[in-house]
Amino acid sequence: MYAEAIKFGQSVPVPDAAVRKLIQQGAKADIYQCWTCGSCDNECPINIATGRLHPQKIVRMANLGMLDELLYEPEIWHCLSCRRCANICPNAVKPSALIAHIRHILMEKKIISISTLRSYQELFERFQRVRRQAVTKCLEGKADSISEKQWRDWLLSPVPELLKTIRMKMTDFGSESHRQFNVSTRSAACFTCGECSSACPISCKKSVFDPRTIFRMVNLGLVDELIKNPAIWLCLDCGRCSDACSQLVEGREMIRRLKEIAVQKGAVDYKFLRCLQQINENVYNRWLDEVDAYLGFNKVSPCCETLFDTSRFQNLSNAQRRRYNRMR
Ligand code: SF4
Ligand code: SF4
Ligand code: SF4
Ligand code: SF4
Repeated sequence: MYAEAIKFGQSVPVPDAAVRKLIQQGAKADIYQCWTCGSCDNECPINIATGRLHPQKIVRMANLGMLDELLYEPEIWHCLSCRRCANICPNAVKPSALIAHIRHILMEKKIISISTLRSYQELFERFQRVRRQAVTKCLEGKADSISEKQWRDWLLSPVPELLKTIRMKMTDFGSESHRQFNVSTRSAACFTCGECSSACPISCKKSVFDPRTIFRMVNLGLVDELIKNPAIWLCLDCGRCSDACSQLVEGREMIRRLKEIAVQKGAVDYKFLRCLQQINENVYNRWLDEVDAYLGFNKVSPCCETLFDTSRFQNLSNAQRRRYNRMR
């Protein structure tokens, strides 16, 4: 294959074993084991919604020793840190750990500053607000895509706290669904320590998404309230809450079950599920555009300009920018 590429005058990357070893030692991601099956690409929620994040490619680049290219690879910042790629990998490769390591190198080399990282995290939290608002509209049957104005308004304004009082019925405790949760997910063992919320990649304000609140509500038998709540549809199904729980509570299973009950009881229908898919494509693509603009990979978006100083990759060369634009 190499000979053919040379014959046609194309440039091919020369694998750099020393850099590859260095990356593996830092990331501890078992990149050597990758056989490029592509399962991680198919499992990545960002890739599913947008086709713009390929963990397989990132692992491949690391195996070729392409560290310089990885440092300026926009996809590093598209990742949600959900670890679904690592969970699905048949060879126990951890693309998520590799991505976290590349971000760490960027900080160490001062290509990205702490304040830039904080602003990026703030942007990420604001993005979760948008997701919550978009799912709410979807549940109300009012939207299958969002306008520029809605995107901007939702990104800029907090989601109001739910102020209404939820009345509990004592019968909720002994209901069939409550018993089912207890047996299959060990929900009763939860002592609300909050480890799950700390581990969850999208946990933020209670009014947006907080797994501990969901699990507490299940324990209080408030299943009927939860199946109408947009929060359960924000969950990435990554299982980090379950992995973190010292009580072995299966948080991911609990949310999966809530979604099933919502469908079974008719709280949502197939139109909602189709709308959710479309809205996910829409909001994830917008978020990636926003991140690219913030980091200087792409044209500056109005929201980014309002929120932060842009062009964080000050030393991004024109060639790197051109390469990025060609890829899109
Ligand atoms: S799932 Fe694992 S082996 Fe397959 S491409 Fe991804 S990292 Fe490589
Ligand atoms: S951690 Fe999640 S978002 Fe990031 S590459 Fe893996 S699956 Fe995709
Ligand atoms: S980590 Fe486990 S015990 Fe702690 S709040 Fe979450 S589910 Fe409950
Ligand atoms: S599975 Fe758990 S950790 Fe993952 S997004 Fe859902 S609540 Fe958060």
